[in-house]
Amino acid sequence: QQHEKDSLYIVLNYAKNYYQNLLWQSDEGQAVGLSYFKERGFKDNTIKDFELGYSTDAWDHFTKDAISKGYQQEILEKAGLLIRKEEKQFDRFRGRVIFPIHNVSGKVIAFGARILKADKNQPKYLNSPETEVYHKSNILYGMFQAKTAIRNEDTCFLVEGYTDVISLHQAGINNVVASSGTSLTLEQIRLIGRFTQNVTVLYDGDAAGIKASLRGTDMILEEGLNVKVVVFPDGNDPDSYVRQIGATAFKEFIRQHSKDFITFKTELYLVEAANDPFKKAGIIKEIVESITKIPDPIKRAVFFRQTANLLQMDEGTLI
Ligand code: ATP
Ligand code: MN
Ligand code: MN
Ligand code: MN
Repeated sequence: QQHEKDSLYIVLNYAKNYYQNLLWQSDEGQAVGLSYFKERGFKDNTIKDFELGYSTDAWDHFTKDAISKGYQQEILEKAGLLIRKEEKQFDRFRGRVIFPIHNVSGKVIAFGARILKADKNQPKYLNSPETEVYHKSNILYGMFQAKTAIRNEDTCFLVEGYTDVISLHQAGINNVVASSGTSLTLEQIRLIGRFTQNVTVLYDGDAAGIKASLRGTDMILEEGLNVKVVVFPDGNDPDSYVRQIGATAFKEFIRQHSKDFITFKTELYLVEAANDPFKKAGIIKEIVESITKIPDPIKRAVFFRQTANLLQMDEGTLI
């Protein structure tokens, strides 16, 4: 088993180098892939640090190349790089820019791949399937690049997307990882917990992102970590917002708009409830439920007190 895992790491690393070479060395890679990244504001160093790449829009260029170098078809398939259908076989990633996904120790274990232009008939991002070395629910994108900074700053920023991680790094914010659009798992929260007890959720400022933040915060609380939330204006995500206002203003925005989870939930819900007392009662129950998820009794008491003040409720009733 270890032998097979090692073969997967080797072929995945080969693929990473292949896509990277294509991006930097080929005319097509430069004209299509590199200019895509540059239009997004990524600098050369950033593109290199994250080992970004490009896959050409042909059926099997990568597979042919890898087989000619002696990699076996079976291992390419197990690595999620090759798709086999009946008699045909083709590259999984075609005509996309490539985001290698590393494990905590820096080995490439999977890829995310983005189309260059919006297309109704294709998913925006295509990711590697689950493999022997890639268990999506255990991975946070960017953890390898972020872990030292997370420890040093004693805080982890949690974002949704690959490009959010990359743009924030470029802005000098290195303690950031992405859940990659799926709902947060316990394993992912425990992974953060190895480096810090403090998480700030920076999800997209759209309905989906806010909903995901609410779900995520309860799970983080249950694991005993401290959680804050920042909401971005007008449907921005961290990547678009840092490009819009610049690194310095972005850091200041985070500093001023980080809310502890109770303030975040209460404010959000009170707007929803407006003047409906029945709704308000339901909401108070939900907030109390969140508080009861905090394992530490002292922290729990602090949040009961704060909620009672915010909602002008008797603390004893809440408890
Ligand atoms: P971009 O800025 O390139 O449009 P994004 O990261 O802002 O990308 P979102 O739509 O906010 O994209 O999605 C967040 C994350 O969810 C993505 O980075 C990706 O990991 C994942 N994701 C989005 N769309 C898909 C999809 N169709 N299939 C699989 N994963 C996806
Ligand atoms: Mn989004
Ligand atoms: Mn985005
Ligand atoms: Mn986004």
